[in-house]
Amino acid sequence: MTTQTPSFVIPPPAPVTLPVRGTSARFPVHRVYCVGRNYAAHAVEMGHDPDKEPPFFFQKNPGNMLSDGKDFPYPPQTGDVHHEIELVVALSGGGRDIAPGKALDIVYGYAVGLDMTRRDIQAAMKKAARPWEAAKAFEHSAPCSALVPAADIGHPAQGAVWLKVNGELRQEGDLNQMIWKTAEIIAELSKLFELAPGDLIMTGTPAGVGSVQRGDVMHAHVDGVGDLQTTVV
Ligand code: MN
Repeated sequence: MTTQTPSFVIPPPAPVTLPVRGTSARFPVHRVYCVGRNYAAHAVEMGHDPDKEPPFFFQKNPGNMLSDGKDFPYPPQTGDVHHEIELVVALSGGGRDIAPGKALDIVYGYAVGLDMTRRDIQAAMKKAARPWEAAKAFEHSAPCSALVPAADIGHPAQGAVWLKVNGELRQEGDLNQMIWKTAEIIAELSKLFELAPGDLIMTGTPAGVGSVQRGDVMHAHVDGVGDLQTTVV
């Protein structure tokens, strides 16, 4: 049997990868799914009623990940870029129509992430009933900590989630306030998409979102998962 070496008309992009705590091996990123309005207090602060509107999904691009402690470059075409701290779920398996009771079996591990958002662009897109990509899926819009394997920490279902800017507490919540829990998110997503190893899920943010400026230091924390620190440059 002969193996054909592929050739490319342009150089293929390098794979996007995240560090994993406790090993030099890295996690290759496939897709990046995000949950909108998964904490009631955040839904309310954005002007919505969580009892009437369930959470929903949008996506970022794998190439939007920012890892390994790099600085966050202030994005263009905005004067109001917001922090959203989120628990990140990393999948080692996939499939369609995954039952909630089986969903945690395909979780590789967890990380602390930021769903950085150009809020002014998002507000304009909402008003015009247009898609959110320009607000959400820009370069470096997903700072992320090292992954920690579920084999080491289990599946966190409660614990503090907070974000400080320059040492001042801005966002605070608890994983137990998530409207859709991790297993439910995976089950719901798998009704819409065929999940695959390498997929990441940003699980939504608690209340307290707000803007950052160049020079600000963001420190994000999820109990039992870890910390993420990045400077806006
Ligand atoms: Mn978010």
